[in-house]
Amino acid sequence: MKLLDGKAVAQKILGEVAGGVRDLRARTGVTPTLAVVLVGDFAASKIYIANKKKAGDGVGIASRDFIYPDGLSRPALSTLLESLNADPAVHGILLQLPLPAGFDEDAAIAAIAPEKDVDGFHPQNLGRLLAGSPTVLPCTPAGCLEILDHYGAELTGAEAVVVGRSRIVGKPLAQLLLARNATVTLCHTRTRDLAAHTRRADVLCVAAGRPGMITGPMVKAGAWVVDVGINRLETGKLVGDVDFDSASQRAGAITPVPGGVGPMTIAMLLRNTLAAARRQLRA
Ligand code: NDP
Repeated sequence: MKLLDGKAVAQKILGEVAGGVRDLRARTGVTPTLAVVLVGDFAASKIYIANKKKAGDGVGIASRDFIYPDGLSRPALSTLLESLNADPAVHGILLQLPLPAGFDEDAAIAAIAPEKDVDGFHPQNLGRLLAGSPTVLPCTPAGCLEILDHYGAELTGAEAVVVGRSRIVGKPLAQLLLARNATVTLCHTRTRDLAAHTRRADVLCVAAGRPGMITGPMVKAGAWVVDVGINRLETGKLVGDVDFDSASQRAGAITPVPGGVGPMTIAMLLRNTLAAARRQLRA
């Protein structure tokens, strides 16, 4: 069994991003800049943002914080996003989800300029992905593909099963796998016999938010298993959606949690920010 070390792959990508940032600064004098918007007091969001900022600092991407723990009115959020869209010194906008109750997340995402949407969630960017001509890829799905590619998974003709159909992970991940000529099955809570699907997967990607739901007997011998789930147990331990101990007995290759997809998501966000800056600067 091969351990798919997302931390190591992310480090490699962050090194490339750092080189790209240095190069861009040398050619244009501009530092790629990410605006981070957090509305509400969400403990997990604060941790995610701190990690993203730290990684950004490490590669030379500047961040500007717009943090409103006590909330923000909907019109004020619209005004903020409009001003960030119009600010040429801001190249990427990260709107941390979830938003507090009462906000229309779809409307907020759509209010971000597509060229500054470094998460790849804007309907225009998702539409381009569906059309087969993406400009920016959603970070977590792109990170899953990077790990699989780094370790040499053969995707063409593979049976790929994705568990979870969220807009940020499952659906775009299925599109990416399809674009790589895998035969893709997308499973969800109404799937009749989940194990029947997962057991025939050459590539099994799980993003359901259910700790340990995929167990060894649900995994095909030799499969590539990518565990997107991040779940904190009452004990404080972080676990994925895959029961690592039993699944790793069957899998040919598997990502750990933590240290798998999580670090890749951040690396992809910073890569997207650099790419957005390059496009905006035409450099
Ligand atoms: P959502 O809650 O938005 O979606 C979960 C999906 O899983 C839904 O489509 C749901 O189906 C499906 N699902 C839930 N339970 C089952 C089940 N028992 N059987 C089959 N399908 C099921 O979650 P996200 O996509 O946002 O996140 C998924 C997980 O990935 C979470 O643990 C999250 O923390 C983690 N995550 C990790 C990231 C990383 O960087 N590693 C980034 C983003 C998320 P239905 O549509 O029918 O409800």
